[in-house]
Amino acid sequence: MATRPLILIVEDEPGIADTLQYALRTEGFDPAWCATGEAALAALDKALPALVILDVGLPDINGFELFKRLRERADMPVVFLTARGDEIDRVVGLELGADDYMAKPFSPRELVARVRSVLRRAAKPATGGSGMTPVAAPAAAPRVFEVDDDRRQIRYYGHAIDLSRYEYGLLRTLVRRPGHVFTRDALLGLVWDDATESLDRTVDAHVKTVRAKLKAVAPTLEPIRTHRGVGYALAEDLPPSLPTR
Ligand code: CA
Repeated sequence: MATRPLILIVEDEPGIADTLQYALRTEGFDPAWCATGEAALAALDKALPALVILDVGLPDINGFELFKRLRERADMPVVFLTARGDEIDRVVGLELGADDYMAKPFSPRELVARVRSVLRRAAKPATGGSGMTPVAAPAAAPRVFEVDDDRRQIRYYGHAIDLSRYEYGLLRTLVRRPGHVFTRDALLGLVWDDATESLDRTVDAHVKTVRAKLKAVAPTLEPIRTHRGVGYALAEDLPPSLPTR
């Protein structure tokens, strides 16, 4: 019995939302529309969508800020809608971990095709490849990292790592996208409550303590790689099981 995947559209322009809902419904999806960020957060508490289409320019909350708050609640893929030719929005969106983006004006068919492809990618177990890494999805082989959002716990080669709140947020962000280089600013924005009160050094200090905790499990491995002058990324070449010493 196939249920139609719920797609949440967060967009303040009714014309665009209508067109999108029509296109999605025609293609076998179950679209829901929210015109504000607050409405979207309320909707998410009621039903978890398979994917969110998120307009960057919302009247009440900046789309990037909303993205952060959505991701605190659930790990579903997000496709951003940005103003035409806004390169900054595109870069920020992808850096924050969006799964795809579309610039307005867009073809509804093209957007539905993107939605399909993002959902297909999200359905696959993590392979360390590009795009969405569904950390919560079951996999045949044990993972190097397993994130348990309910318990706010991360296991590394099966060992539960005792992490502070920000250490957890930091490692979780890196683990979600192996190989993706996050700048210190992006990490501050994604993990810390008040990024303006924090400094780049805050990120470095937390990376250092997380590394020490991971080293206690696997002394010979360095899962968090430093990209000098840029930021940090999770290594993609970690062995599938703990190396014996
Ligand atoms: Ca808008």
